[in-house]
Amino acid sequence: MSGPRGECDLAVVGAGILGLATARELASRHPRLSLQVLEREGAIALHQTSHNSGVVHQGVYYQPGSLKAALCVAGARELYEYCDARAIPVERCGKLIVATEPGQVPRLDELERRGTANGVPGLARVDRHRIAEIEPHVRALDGLHSPETGIVDYGRVAAAYADDVETAGGTITTGCGVTGVRAASGWLRLTHTSGETRARHALFCAGGWSDRLATMAGGGANPRIVPFRGAYMRLRPERRSLVRGMVYPVPDPELPFLGVHLTRRIDGEVLIGPSALLAGARDAYSLRRVRPADVVSTLTWPGTYRMAQRFWRTGIDEARHLLPGGTFVAAAAELVPELRQRDVLPGFAGVRAQAVDRAGRLVDDFVFSHTDRALHVRNAPSPGATSSLAIARYIADEAQRAFDLPYR
Ligand SMILES: Cc1cc2nc3c(=O)[nH]c(=O)nc-3n(C[C@H](O)[C@H](O)[C@H](O)COP(=O)(O)OP(=O)(O)OC[C@H]3O[C@@H](n4cnc5c(N)ncnc54)[C@H](O)[C@@H]3O)c2cc1C
Repeated sequence: MSGPRGECDLAVVGAGILGLATARELASRHPRLSLQVLEREGAIALHQTSHNSGVVHQGVYYQPGSLKAALCVAGARELYEYCDARAIPVERCGKLIVATEPGQVPRLDELERRGTANGVPGLARVDRHRIAEIEPHVRALDGLHSPETGIVDYGRVAAAYADDVETAGGTITTGCGVTGVRAASGWLRLTHTSGETRARHALFCAGGWSDRLATMAGGGANPRIVPFRGAYMRLRPERRSLVRGMVYPVPDPELPFLGVHLTRRIDGEVLIGPSALLAGARDAYSLRRVRPADVVSTLTWPGTYRMAQRFWRTGIDEARHLLPGGTFVAAAAELVPELRQRDVLPGFAGVRAQAVDRAGRLVDDFVFSHTDRALHVRNAPSPGATSSLAIARYIADEAQRAFDLPYR
């Protein structure tokens, strides 16, 4: 990693998994392009990319025809191929989505319909006997099994993408936060903590800060990022045998979150979570971290109030997860009844960069937008990491059209 170039053809702002995947795709398509990645933190991939469940989703949940459906299914396939080629450990340990009450069965029917329409490989409806064979400690009435769902360390995947960018001649500069964007005389002037980079064009992949960079570049305020903290617990090592792969509830169709689930990780840990609670900062990895500018940004957004009117009950349920001896473990025990409070240890937390529109809707699909000489990723929550290679292709195609690449 080196200092920033004063001038380049293309600047990519943000070295999370999406910025790096997109830089990699463009550097390999256009070897003569001078490409500069600018990352604010002292290292790559420190935010969502390294604070997530580590699941390689297969596309069960998403509305057929949506970007999420298309890019997740293609992205998962490409990610497995990439990990095989780069010897990055992955495990296809499979996932069960289970209904524990009769009222959840119609929603499971809908997930089966979506998953089938999306072409999820190997997806099968499973009865209680088959569920018990797949996950002996799970008790449920009905389920969907996705045997190809897997796990990976996305921080490691992002590091491999970064190597590819540098091998292809791109430069990645860390500790270089972009603070200003101005289009003038055929260039985009990016002011940053090390000075200025003049770029012909730019791609903004800033995760939890994407709305700020988009408005800085002249884009609209809608949608705004409203950060949702997702905290995890871990199973004690001696209780990890309670799950073999992944066990998920049937999610609330109104929300883009998947509900408290049990997930095996590639390092052998078993996670329980994540919760989904409004956060006091876009990097609220600790509950105590509150940034006044982030709180003001959330509270002055009209969509926040409209969202709160619709989801206040869910908010109260999520807040109860925080109480000692609270409902967090109880939610997971609905799936695995043997689970007890004493089986869990504290885990880590991530912060979702969730876009909320002016009407108070939590934006479900991926959102990309344009400003003068630039493209922006405005909403890329889960399964953004799974979809990274397919999103990169999508953005690179868009960049080729919008920026008239290659220049040379
Ligand atoms: C709790 C949780 C669980 C999840 N589980 C999964 C899962 O199991 N599977 C899955 O596929 N997806 C999952 N996701 C989603 C996935 O993590 C994201 O979709 C993905 O990481 C988004 O990548 P990104 O590059 O857009 O964002 P990030 O990884 O957040 O990267 C954005 C980067 O931009 C940088 N940046 C911001 N502002 C500036 C600036 N001004 N100048 C320079 N750089 C800047 C940041 O420092 C950061 O490095 C989960 C997310 C969370 C939070």
